[in-house]
Amino acid sequence: MPAGSLSPMMQQYREAREAAGDALLLFRMGDFYELFFDDAKTAARTLGLALTSRDKGDDPVPMAGFPHHQLDSYLAKIIAAGHRAAICEQVEDPKQAKGLVKREVTRIVTPGTLTDDALLDPRTSNFLAAIVQPSASKEPASMAGIAWVDVSTGRFYAAEFPTGQIADPLVRIRPAELLVSDDSPPLSTEWTNGISVTRRPAWAFGRTTAIETLTKHFRTRTLEGFGFDADPDAADSLALRAAGAVLNYLTETQKASLAHINKLVHYSSSERLAIDPATRRSLELVATLRDGKREGSLLGVLDRSVTSLGARLLADWLAAPLTNVDAINARIDAVDELVTNASVTTQLRESLRQIYDIQRLLSRVTTGRASPRDLAFVGRTLACLPKVKARLTGRTSALLRDIESRLDLCGEIRGPLEQALVEDCPLTTRDGNFIRPGYRSDVDELRELMAGGKQWMAEYQAAECERTGIANMKVGFNQVFGYYLEVTHANRDKVPPEYIRKQTLKNAERYVTPELKEYEEKVLAAEDKLKQREYELFVELRDMVAAAATRLQATADALAEVDVLAGLAELARSRGYVRPTVVAEPVLDIEFGRHPVLDITEPEGTFVPNDVQCQARSGSEGARCEARGAHVDGDSPLAPRGSLLLITGPNMAGKSTYIRQAALLTLMAQMGSFVPARRATVGVADRIFARVGASDELARGQSTFMVEMTETARILNTATSQSLVILDEIGRGTSTYDGLSLAWSICEYIHDHIGCRTLFATHYHELTDLEEQLPSLRNFNVAVKEWGNEVMFLHQIVPGAADKSYGIHVAQLAGVPRSVNERAREVLELLESQHRSSDCVGNCASNGVFSVGRQAESNGDQCGLAADANQALPRGRSTHWQLTLFGLEEHPLLDEIRATDLDAIEPDEALDLIHSWQQRLAESPIAAKR
Ligand code: ADP
Repeated sequence: MPAGSLSPMMQQYREAREAAGDALLLFRMGDFYELFFDDAKTAARTLGLALTSRDKGDDPVPMAGFPHHQLDSYLAKIIAAGHRAAICEQVEDPKQAKGLVKREVTRIVTPGTLTDDALLDPRTSNFLAAIVQPSASKEPASMAGIAWVDVSTGRFYAAEFPTGQIADPLVRIRPAELLVSDDSPPLSTEWTNGISVTRRPAWAFGRTTAIETLTKHFRTRTLEGFGFDADPDAADSLALRAAGAVLNYLTETQKASLAHINKLVHYSSSERLAIDPATRRSLELVATLRDGKREGSLLGVLDRSVTSLGARLLADWLAAPLTNVDAINARIDAVDELVTNASVTTQLRESLRQIYDIQRLLSRVTTGRASPRDLAFVGRTLACLPKVKARLTGRTSALLRDIESRLDLCGEIRGPLEQALVEDCPLTTRDGNFIRPGYRSDVDELRELMAGGKQWMAEYQAAECERTGIANMKVGFNQVFGYYLEVTHANRDKVPPEYIRKQTLKNAERYVTPELKEYEEKVLAAEDKLKQREYELFVELRDMVAAAATRLQATADALAEVDVLAGLAELARSRGYVRPTVVAEPVLDIEFGRHPVLDITEPEGTFVPNDVQCQARSGSEGARCEARGAHVDGDSPLAPRGSLLLITGPNMAGKSTYIRQAALLTLMAQMGSFVPARRATVGVADRIFARVGASDELARGQSTFMVEMTETARILNTATSQSLVILDEIGRGTSTYDGLSLAWSICEYIHDHIGCRTLFATHYHELTDLEEQLPSLRNFNVAVKEWGNEVMFLHQIVPGAADKSYGIHVAQLAGVPRSVNERAREVLELLESQHRSSDCVGNCASNGVFSVGRQAESNGDQCGLAADANQALPRGRSTHWQLTLFGLEEHPLLDEIRATDLDAIEPDEALDLIHSWQQRLAESPIAAKR
């Protein structure tokens, strides 16, 4: 559109449109936000706004809009629809404006930069992240830099990660928005699922830009004070570049002070328990596998915090448990003290309940978006501090004492806030009415003037009624004429000549008088002055709070910590958890352990506790490793040692639950929590791996088996002797023999080459024979009670190999038709009798058992083909014997058929040959039975 044909307003719009980039431009016009052109069409489509047009005529401009007070709800819709929004405000008072009101884009709202409570989940952090992957040869090719910030709270981190493991931090941080460079390669959807990706120019990720942006923001000369290396070739240069990109983006989009982001934490992943994305998902740490809900996840169980600060910190602790024994014990000591002093904990939690989300309040204060109510909430939070501090005074654990010392009461801020602000503060400064009487004399005087005005008005009305004899004359006010006198038509004759008529209504006339006008000016001026004065006082208070942001933030962090610790103590007390003994040695020794989620969701008293005892093999000879089973009747005898516990048993018996439980208890201990057990010694793990199930992968468009093997490969390549590995039903996504072979060799590899604590659940009974050959592998199974054709799973893990599958029983329980189950039983008997006739190895496949075996497998059952043969076979030599072992050897006839040269034989000879083949096949024992 040529500029000449644009109205001044539209020209202004065009400038704002340019500043908005690819965001939808919300253009403030009076009491409305309007969208024009394509933005209007998009808004009409995605936000359900009515599409109208402006400048009706030859070239109408599409337009859509909503009232200004609905901004929050429309922003939420815009972000949810995957757009961003640029807010263009009127930046001068329309009353004061000469000509067109000045407008500017005051901020760009994107998924990663939200600060408004209405757009945020109080219990979840909202991170904006940036990633820098080395493209040129200069940087160490194996590392990448990541930085992440929660603008709503000011927390800002940067770290380096191996490029191969970049998904780990991304899945842990779960950023709402990820910044990547224009010139970086396309991102794998594995990382970016559900994340809004924003491409930024490559220069924004440069090292020089980063250092300039960061030092300018933090007002420091270098970044060494934050733990970053001055050397430009250092690996942390990548982290800094990512941090620079984050800050640069914030400056561009926020257009406000970012003073609440007052430090950059150089995050060290070496002090954290490494948990890869698959493990996070499998263990359902923050969301369930089935429906992605927080409820039913470990976080859902652990979160007893009473503040949103605590809820967010707990999620951080759970996402990245510790690995340093002393640091872990410091947290556990604090929880222990709070468990022991239950009444202190109850009082602490009572006091904490009163506090507001001071981290998010502070971010709104420093970015200039706070309301009077926000400031009042800061004041009320500060008012709770003395009580919280008092409860912490005299505590003995180092962490509680430290928290106590970090709680800054900030009395000099609390005082003015309490004195200045009324109880029920409004959400905007626009109409005033939030400064308490008595706080400032000039405010009181202006108010008196206005109140006195009301008195004057009443008297004036009475006097005029008296003077004119119009008994029902009323004084009113409207925006157009200000104050007026209203006289009904019946009294029109009595109206004195000096009254000036302004409006005629159906039943009445409205007049103004010189006195009324004079009075009105006085009152309106007082009202304006009062609003102005209240606003000035608000800014004064806001600046005072902003100036103390660093101290307040430290206090907020301390409050969050005490809330998490008190919540963990409350959980431990109410669910009967025990203090874990955390040690550096790779052991796991749990007595009467319970699954933290099922412990709560199963009916009270029905969850069956189990023991785990396990210790990593040190060296090839195998260290002390013990494993013992459930307490069937009180104490059970010690079973032989093990680093690799192989748990067999029917489906639905409780294998997964048992092995997940071991991982979850380890993780809970390492984050500083008590654990659901009677006694627990937990050796710190450097990594936890869980490869559990293969159910949810298909939906993500990958072959189940490929995913399973990729994850398994990752475990085998990265687990160390200090890791904890949980494997469930490995090898299930392929044919029985394939899968069994893989499971077999994976067990051997972990046992021989990694030696870490491993819990391996499987329904392949054949694997139990490994106990004979692997000195540190121990068999366990899930106890089953059987009578007649009925079975009952006891959920008790007992030493020894399972002797039988119960797939058919499970099918029966699940409601598979009786005839199918009966037939399955017949087939099973047939297979078992063939197996007993023992020469099945090598013959089974060629004689058709293989296909029957697969049929049975679908009920979770196998024919146990390999069992007898294993013992006779040396292990670990090559893959060849495995093929033989699992009955995949070809029938010798096939070689003969292949070798037959058709050009060299006559038709008669060929017929004879076929006849002889048939005869030999007929001699096969299984075929004969048919
Ligand atoms: P598997 O892995 O052997 O197929 P799961 O571990 O999935 O079996 O357990 C199946 C169900 O059995 C669980 O959903 C739970 O309801 C119940 N269960 C498992 N372990 C226990 C236990 N220790 N006590 C009580 N119920 C249990």
